[in-house]
Amino acid sequence: MVDKLKKRSWAEPFKIKVVEPLKITTREYRSRVLVEAGYNTFLLRSDDVYIDLLTDSGTNAMSDSQWAGMMLGDEAYAGSKNFYNLEANVRRYYGYKYLVPTHQGRGAENLISKILIKPGNYIPGNMYFTTTRLHQELAGGKFVDVIIDEAHDPESLHPFKGNVDLQKLEDLIDRVGADKIPYISVAVTVNMAGGQPVSIENLKQVRELCNKHGIRVILDATRALENAHFVKLREKGYENKPIAEILKEICSYSDGCTMSGKKDLLVNIGGFLALNDQEIFEEARNLVVVYEGLHTYGGLAGRDMEAMARGMEEAVQDDHMRARIGQIEYVGEKLLSIGVPIVLPVGGHAIFLDAKRFLPHVKQSEFPAQTLAAELYLESGIRSMERGIVSAGRNKDTGDHYYPKLELVRLTFPRRVYTQAHCDVTAEAVEEVFSNRQKIRGLKMVYEPKYLRFFQARFEPLAS
Ligand SMILES: *Cc1c(COP(=O)(O)O)cnc(C)c1O
Repeated sequence: MVDKLKKRSWAEPFKIKVVEPLKITTREYRSRVLVEAGYNTFLLRSDDVYIDLLTDSGTNAMSDSQWAGMMLGDEAYAGSKNFYNLEANVRRYYGYKYLVPTHQGRGAENLISKILIKPGNYIPGNMYFTTTRLHQELAGGKFVDVIIDEAHDPESLHPFKGNVDLQKLEDLIDRVGADKIPYISVAVTVNMAGGQPVSIENLKQVRELCNKHGIRVILDATRALENAHFVKLREKGYENKPIAEILKEICSYSDGCTMSGKKDLLVNIGGFLALNDQEIFEEARNLVVVYEGLHTYGGLAGRDMEAMARGMEEAVQDDHMRARIGQIEYVGEKLLSIGVPIVLPVGGHAIFLDAKRFLPHVKQSEFPAQTLAAELYLESGIRSMERGIVSAGRNKDTGDHYYPKLELVRLTFPRRVYTQAHCDVTAEAVEEVFSNRQKIRGLKMVYEPKYLRFFQARFEPLAS
């Protein structure tokens, strides 16, 4: 018998008080601006975009309470009361003793890397993240990937594809020695694997192994709330626990975290480093003055700290998280039902279209994901992002493209910004492109920047 309750609809757990009108453009108009943008969605003007799914970073909508908090900004240079509000909430929800605010996540990454990493050190992690790895390398360290193999397989249905492979971690410790490993950086969830979570069981095992060898555990807690939601859904014994409680347990297996408030915490700017160790905290509090600002503002205005403190209280609510991830699952289910190839299971912040299966007739050297992102914009005004051969760059030694296994287009959902109707429009636009896929031809690159080429590369259509 079908459970009637399960079939009941649910809606966004908020009502709308302020609106930002969207610009609807014609196909002819989009065709023109796409040429001007060199077929690269990063080079479009936001004003020409209808539904913007480029990223969920800093693109969140704030609540009335957060906006009210902005008016209560205490912009004192030292000892702002908003800092103490933020500190109290970090202790309450994340459970760490000490807080150092930073302008965003990478500010915290810079501090912890500078303090803990010595030249020649190794930093294991569950898949790299762009800014995290760069700060580790700039401090003289070497990143080593210790994520489970399933993370690299778009068709694997493993429920916790973000898990650390304990054997890979142990092999690294045997090979280089624990004294060369200042900490392991564990991302919850794993952005580059598609927003895939880590299980509590895995975190416990990582903690145990690291305790045995005297290695610290530092979380990248940027999307820890999304991770907590998946634990609630998928891990035995957690189905009835509030997300806030699961978040605190996740953090309890670590010694500190770096955090980008621009994701989970429902703000447009902000981040922090949180720690339990007093000595490291004191060093961080000293160093933050050099790179960010005084230790009670760390590069943020008082009002930004207040918005983040209030966003934290809203973000840990079960209803909010259910709607946040529910929206992505909703689009995922729609696309699956019409046979569009996507990465499974659907992750916490985005849908990833599998461009290799979507456009099998476009060779990887003709940039299938870049082509698909451009085509989706042309069809609908919806902006997405390439995560494939363009993002992967070239091998420095041979000069050839890297040919990554995954050739994906990311549709990333900002929090509380779009409604279910926007989700329907998005799924229908992808369906339209999918039904015309045979006619789609690839691209050639006509301008290639030296660093992080995906941001500024330009393309032209191949002659058909
Ligand atoms: C965004 C992000 C960061 C970097 O944070 P910024 O606020 O962009 O500096 C670090 N790690 C993960 C997993 C992220 O998603």
